[in-house]
Amino acid sequence: MNYRSQARALLIRTATLARVDELALRMQNLKGGTHGLVVGVHETPASLQSQFREQLEWASQHFTITTLEGFAELWARPQASQAGSRPLLLFTFDDGRESNYTVGAPLLESFGGRGVFFVVPSFAECAADHALSFYRSRINPNSRPGDEQWEDWKPMSPAQIGQLAARGHAIGSHTLMHQRLVGLSPDVLEREIGDSARQLTSWTKKPVDAFAWTFGWDAVDANAWKVIQRYHRFCFSPCAGAIDSRLDSPSLLWRREIEVRFSTAEYRFLYSGLMDPWWGARRRRLRKMLRVSDNTNLE
Ligand SMILES: [Zn+2]
Repeated sequence: MNYRSQARALLIRTATLARVDELALRMQNLKGGTHGLVVGVHETPASLQSQFREQLEWASQHFTITTLEGFAELWARPQASQAGSRPLLLFTFDDGRESNYTVGAPLLESFGGRGVFFVVPSFAECAADHALSFYRSRINPNSRPGDEQWEDWKPMSPAQIGQLAARGHAIGSHTLMHQRLVGLSPDVLEREIGDSARQLTSWTKKPVDAFAWTFGWDAVDANAWKVIQRYHRFCFSPCAGAIDSRLDSPSLLWRREIEVRFSTAEYRFLYSGLMDPWWGARRRRLRKMLRVSDNTNLE
């Protein structure tokens, strides 16, 4: 365990002992109506199925697990939910792994939710013998050979993606090739964003409303973001924060990464939002770079 993860573990233990995380959650619930939370997940292996169910059970007691359409109501009808109601919670899954199809989606459905699955079309089209090398070179360059389980690198097929869409889940784009979107030419941007959306529509027969960029919070620039706006209504960042529809716009949404393998203390701490201030400077930099005006400034 390195210094940073030791410090994080200590913080989580202290917050749990002091019940600060429960208090933070209760305050979050007071702000229902205009508030929502988006969680980002990667692999959902069968070995962690019961752990994920426990997390969903706990989350459903503090939030209203919803769908992308349900989440959009934060902007369409914010007054529809009364203050004091539970904040909306939307689950998103990155990269399009088969374990999301076999384990993640059915579990979420059993709680009445539907997810957003951010798919990489070129990964979904990989033949079985090519998927692992695509995963190592494009999806997770930090992956160490020998460490990967098949759940990490086996993609969903185009047919499975079509079935998820038919069951009411949203299929979002995660670029055509799992590309960083900084400093790219207009042609490459059009391929990575436009072609990806067209390919997904051909598999789902539905418009692709959602997009999530890859890698870190800063792996996007203003040119890429403009192209994203042309194709997608919702743009999800890998930058943590709660969403307040009075301040945030669907074109730049925050997500907290809460993996199914996280311990009970760890995920409760992350749901509580106590780590969000640590991401504040990044949210401000992204807003500035992408020139997203606060909705309040438009009134
Ligand atoms: Zn990814």
